[in-house]
Amino acid sequence: MKIHEYQAKEILRAHGAMTPRGRVATTPDEAFEIATELGTAVVIKAQVHVGGRGKAGGIKVGHDARAARDIAEAMLGSDLKGLIVEKVLVEEALDIAQEYYLGIVLDRNVRRHTVMVSAEGGVDIEEVAARSAEKIAKLPIDPRMGLAEFQMRQLCYDAALDRRVITSACKFLHGLYQAYLAVDANLAEINPLVVTAGGEVTAADAKINIDDSALYRHPKIADLAEESEADEIEMEAHRRGIQYVRLDGDIGVLGNGAGLVMATLDEVKSAGGAPANFLDIGGGARADLVLNSLDLIMMTPGVEGIFCNVFGGITRCDEVAQGIIEARTKLSISVPMVVRLTGTNEQDGRHILAEAGVVAAESMQEGAAKIVELTR
Ligand code: GDP
Ligand code: MN
Repeated sequence: MKIHEYQAKEILRAHGAMTPRGRVATTPDEAFEIATELGTAVVIKAQVHVGGRGKAGGIKVGHDARAARDIAEAMLGSDLKGLIVEKVLVEEALDIAQEYYLGIVLDRNVRRHTVMVSAEGGVDIEEVAARSAEKIAKLPIDPRMGLAEFQMRQLCYDAALDRRVITSACKFLHGLYQAYLAVDANLAEINPLVVTAGGEVTAADAKINIDDSALYRHPKIADLAEESEADEIEMEAHRRGIQYVRLDGDIGVLGNGAGLVMATLDEVKSAGGAPANFLDIGGGARADLVLNSLDLIMMTPGVEGIFCNVFGGITRCDEVAQGIIEARTKLSISVPMVVRLTGTNEQDGRHILAEAGVVAAESMQEGAAKIVELTR
């Protein structure tokens, strides 16, 4: 899960990593107030989940509170790379002497949280990695040892940071690592980490992604998702505990097991159709979960047909069939539907479907071809 820069900075502050003074605003008047409080030139930053806001016009400097209000007025409600700006962060503008890069990411190749430090900050780090990988000092963290002071210093030396700021940079890195652990992040990136003309080290930018599988441990952070990021139907699916991903086609897909659902999406595609969603009812689903899932699919805009593909193992075909029949009446589903059921209690399932006039396809391929034909 992604969180906004201002939220990431709050987390950093709570763990002793320095950030510029400032707050988030949702109206031009609030921006004016914050800038007045700060009493300095300010930077106004669009809080949207896109990279490269600077180049896209989402980062602007205002020399006084009135300028801050004008900038916020123009920015709020505007479109930044396809997203509407609803909040701006108003911070004291920095007198930038140097821009570094600091990151901690879960490196799945080495199965460790890995720290990266580079003196080449403020630019795309992937670009640095491609152009001159030696400019990024890296260290996979041993979870038994954590990140020791001497390792942090070594990283800063290896990255050739200005020696005068190494102590402050290490202090920042320590806070960043504490924050990373505390929120179960899988990415925390400070680009740029700024050294000011006064020699202070502070996070000009901050990006933290939280491991979705750990969100249950952080209900407050999980709540933040409600107000931003996710698609409305995906959020509803999350509330219902259903694995659902919105896609942009017109054929609703329901299956059991992520692998089978993905294979079903492929089949629909190769039959010339376009799936509207991924939906996995999981193992051992009962009729009410099937009903609930079909309800979600029907909420997806533009659905012209539904393909249910179930391989019964612990999932019983008769339960699924029951759920489908209930859904058809309760949700008055009028779009064409193709069902392929195989495995446990297959005969019972087919019987239930046949009684209600729903035809079961013999194979996944046949079912995919049929739904594509029916929705055309
Ligand atoms: P991004 O473009 O979305 O990554 O947003 P950043 O917060 O990283 O800002 C982009 C660039 O704006 C930075 O790399 C800085 O070089 C520049 N910048 C200039 N003045 C300031 C300032 O006072 N604060 C911040 N955050 N960035 C500034
Ligand atoms: Mn940045």
